[in-house]
Amino acid sequence: MDKDLKSKTLIEIQSIIAGFGGKGYLAKYIYSFIHQHNTNDINLITTLPKEFRAKLSNDGFYISNLKIVEKLSDPDGTVKYLFETADGQQIESVLLDENGRKTICVSTQVGCRLGCRFCATGYLKFARNLTAGEIADQVITISADSGCKINNIVYMGMGEPLDNYENTIKAVRILADPAGKNIGIRRQTISTVGLPDGIKKLANENIYPRLAVSLHAPDDELRTQIVPVANKYPLYELLAAMKHYNQKTDRRITIEYCMMEGVNDDPDLARKLIQLLRGLHASVNLIEYNPHPGANFKPADRDRIKMFKDILMQAGIETIIRFRRGTSIKAACGQLGADRIKKAKI
Ligand code: SF4
Repeated sequence: MDKDLKSKTLIEIQSIIAGFGGKGYLAKYIYSFIHQHNTNDINLITTLPKEFRAKLSNDGFYISNLKIVEKLSDPDGTVKYLFETADGQQIESVLLDENGRKTICVSTQVGCRLGCRFCATGYLKFARNLTAGEIADQVITISADSGCKINNIVYMGMGEPLDNYENTIKAVRILADPAGKNIGIRRQTISTVGLPDGIKKLANENIYPRLAVSLHAPDDELRTQIVPVANKYPLYELLAAMKHYNQKTDRRITIEYCMMEGVNDDPDLARKLIQLLRGLHASVNLIEYNPHPGANFKPADRDRIKMFKDILMQAGIETIIRFRRGTSIKAACGQLGADRIKKAKI
């Protein structure tokens, strides 16, 4: 059994404490010290009787702790954190400020197996999945370090969240608990490159986080060039899974479409996208591509992005444009890990 208390839900901690003969309310003390006060030492949970602190420690329980290795700030308010895990792995997370609302973009894996062509993380070797505690800790530590109240979480950093399904959904539950960070399910977004089985599984949970799906192209041929995993999961299968999520959860899905010059920015592709999305309850985010040293793509021209948006809007599809942010510190979407690709090439 994993003995990291940061990876446990409140119910799991209650059951551990009950196993030591303690009352359920003691679990809340532990949970709030870990999640609200960023405590990483069982002995510092002073509201927990000494007897229980000793029992937990003697039984091998501990509280994991991500170390901040580096922190970079962009003039637009974006802050990128480089963390080191206990086994020396490095991951990145981003704190975004949108008109005072704070969002943290968290990583779910060290590296990524899916190798999307436009994404810096996809060029890094996959090392391992992050634990639920390591995913949650990015939020706990950034919130403590910045002193900010965190409004939203997006599982959109390094890694594919649905490829680390169990730990990601557990982190969603842990962070949503009112006894801890209390970041509601509707303020947490799982962003996937589009794994149909994972989307269907998510639809069967008893909690429904927001779902964002990275499409990037309206047909299989083009999509496969950008997102190689599309070879395995054709669009008809992905669309069926998204419609199932719509029906089961009554939630609208966000379609992410990263715009690259001469690749997927042709107005005809916007018309194709309209056909594809027919019957799906979805809105579209057009993301200005963020270049990185590993790939040769360029951002689409801003006027072309606006034209793409207008075509979608005229068809009644709610569409917003996300222009680049945090680029001076390589904290923008698709750029996480870019510094390490650069160093590897030197
Ligand atoms: Fe992995 Fe997401 Fe990057 Fe694709 S976009 S390589 S799924 S981190």
